[in-house]
Amino acid sequence: MKVETLIKKAQEAMNTKGAKLEVDGVWGPKTIKEAKKYEFRIEAFSDTTKPGTTLSDNNTPSNGIIEPKFVILPDIEFVNRGNYATPSGQFKGLTVHYTVSDRTAKNAKGVLAYLKNNGFGCMVMDEDGIIYIPKNFDVFKNWGYHSGVSQWKGIKNVSDQFAGIEICCWGLNSIVGPYRTVKESDGYIVAGKYQAYTEAQENALINFILWAKSNNPAFDFDYIAGHDELRKEAGKKGDKQDPGGSLSMSMPKFRNLIKTKAAELGI
Ligand SMILES: [Zn+2]
Repeated sequence: MKVETLIKKAQEAMNTKGAKLEVDGVWGPKTIKEAKKYEFRIEAFSDTTKPGTTLSDNNTPSNGIIEPKFVILPDIEFVNRGNYATPSGQFKGLTVHYTVSDRTAKNAKGVLAYLKNNGFGCMVMDEDGIIYIPKNFDVFKNWGYHSGVSQWKGIKNVSDQFAGIEICCWGLNSIVGPYRTVKESDGYIVAGKYQAYTEAQENALINFILWAKSNNPAFDFDYIAGHDELRKEAGKKGDKQDPGGSLSMSMPKFRNLIKTKAAELGI
C-alpha cells in the first residue's frame, strides 16, 4: 500500500473521531496535531498480513480456566528484547490498554503490525476475545515497549516488568457505541463517554489473567493496572485514557474481582 493511501486512511479514521481534516494524503501540520491526540495512528497500517495460525483452541476448562485463544501471525515478529527484568524472567504485572481502533479481527492484526513497525510489542485482542501475537513470542517471557512513561508501586516505566494487552476499542469520545459514560474521575479515570469493551473481551481478559497466574506464580494481581492509572502514578494524569470507562468497572474493583475469582478457583 502506498504511504499516501495509508495517510488518507489515517485521516479518514481520525475524522470519524471528530477531526476535521482534508483527506489529502499529506502528513501536514494539521494532521500531525490531530494524530498526537491518539495513542496509535489508527488504521495507518498495512492490511497485507496473512491469516494467522491458531496456536491453541482448547475450550476444555481446566480448573475452571480455559486456555486463551491465541493466534500467531506468522509474518510479524517483534524485536527480541529478551526476558522480563524480574527474578523469574516472567512478567510480574499487566497493563490493560485499548487501541483507539475498530474492534474487528482485521484491525487487531493491523494493530499488531503497527506495534512491530514502531518498535512496540504486546498482545492484541479483538472483539471476540481472540489474542493475536507475533511469531517467536513467549507471552510469559518476552517483553516489549507498550506503556511508555509509567509508574506502579515503585516500578518506573513498567514495560520490562509488565505484559501488555491492547484490547481493540475506540475508547474515549468514540462515535461508535455501545457507550459507557463515566461521570466521576475516580482518582484517575478521565470522565467522558467511552465505547465499551465487548462482554467477550472482558471475559477473555479475566480468563487470560487467571490462566496466566496458574502458569506464572510470580504474576501479582496487585500489579494489574490500567494505562491511565500508570500515567497518573507517573505524574501525568489524563495523558492516557485507557481503559477508563471502556472497562465496566474501575481498575481497583477489577483487581478485587480477579482476586475473588482466583480464590474461588484456589489459585
Ligand atoms: Zn495504552
